[in-house]
Amino acid sequence: MENWEKLSRLPEKQVRQLQEQRVPSFLGKEVAARHPAYREAWAAGGAPRSLADLVKMPFTVKDDLLSPPGNPTGYLRYMLEAPAAAVAGGGMLGKLLGKKTTDSVLDKNQTSQFFFSAGRTGRLTPYVYAIHDIEQLRETGLRLLDVLGLTQDDTMVNAMPYLPNLCFWQVYYATVSLGATALQSGGGRILGLPKIMTALENMDATTLFTTPGYAEFLLYSAIHYKVRLPELRNIIVGYAPAPLPVIKRLEVLARMVGHPEATVKRVYYLNEAKAAWGECAPGSGYHFYPDHSFLETVTPVAPHLPGQSELVLTNLDVKGSCVVRFRTGDTIAGIAYDTCPVCKRGLPRLTGELERLQEIKKVIVNGEEKLLNLNSLYGLLAAEPDILLWQAVVSPEQGLALGVSLRNKDDAPKVLPQLQEMLTAQLGIVPQISDASYRELSERLGFEKHPVEKRIVYA
Ligand SMILES: [Zn+2]
Repeated sequence: MENWEKLSRLPEKQVRQLQEQRVPSFLGKEVAARHPAYREAWAAGGAPRSLADLVKMPFTVKDDLLSPPGNPTGYLRYMLEAPAAAVAGGGMLGKLLGKKTTDSVLDKNQTSQFFFSAGRTGRLTPYVYAIHDIEQLRETGLRLLDVLGLTQDDTMVNAMPYLPNLCFWQVYYATVSLGATALQSGGGRILGLPKIMTALENMDATTLFTTPGYAEFLLYSAIHYKVRLPELRNIIVGYAPAPLPVIKRLEVLARMVGHPEATVKRVYYLNEAKAAWGECAPGSGYHFYPDHSFLETVTPVAPHLPGQSELVLTNLDVKGSCVVRFRTGDTIAGIAYDTCPVCKRGLPRLTGELERLQEIKKVIVNGEEKLLNLNSLYGLLAAEPDILLWQAVVSPEQGLALGVSLRNKDDAPKVLPQLQEMLTAQLGIVPQISDASYRELSERLGFEKHPVEKRIVYA
């Protein structure tokens, strides 16, 4: 990877040059020779030699990465073979069996960790991080902490859900590489709220990494139990949707419980990118690393996501699993290459709100099929001060049922009809809304039962 200080200051032209060079050197050489799926796909037409060639290549979609039924190792088709295995024609398992070698080139290709992401149909897809990728995770972790404004003086609690997924491990490798004092808690499901809260208190923690839903649950609980965390000044959220109204709400809570100037920032964890990208300030855009990923957008994604484009990823420096023109299923407003107005870094940024195509669901209303954009619920409901918690249950026939817990239960006769009117106008369908107690709703959401709470349930 490039020198971080230098990379952060590169003007747009040089950022593009850097990426342009990676196309022949990585895609044209390594991927074309050692990636079974792309080697086959590019056999006739040749490998991309420039960015202009690359953006004409066919897309890779999530289902391509799935192992076909009856072939559990089919995902190896989307992994780079180790050089020796490719030369010896050792087949797809060669790279996994290459463990015994002492060759240092091969070492970096060896499988280190298996992560998983959910496919479009919910089937789990292995995504293999090689030793090289784990080394890069340390470097990208340091970059992430730098973008977030964190230093070795910060004491950090990693309450990202413990999973074979980038979210927990990026934070783990980041804190270990920095040498900061950190607790790797595994989140509420592993360590539990009382211990995480005690740790934040006893360690004088300055920084908490978690999901937006768990951050809110933890801060409400701290208020309820009258726990003060005066040193807590950085709350870093990601993995689940966190539009700006959610950040605003969390910031108010963080300042009640923690440091009076506490801030909340966002991170985008994309398993296939093998690196997480942070915002230097809410709304600045996610700063990604142009020496490691090439990102483009495809428009229009769908008429019900106006102004959004789907993010398409090409790995530029990985071993293990590797994708070219991968449709992430995540949408954003765009990609900015100008200098960041907040931190002045030259890194390109993903701008606007992240939304997921999988959160667009078909429902039948009065015999007519409609598309419901559930991404918007997060922001719309976070902006409602009367609502403490919510959960949506969606079914094609019943439409949208929303359970809410109100700040003041007596306000229900006034608040619920207003809420219904607002959501009907915004979503284009009439939701059924019921109120529930905070305790009941938090049980249903399962903050400590699941890696991420059940905010939207598909019945
Ligand atoms: Zn910035």
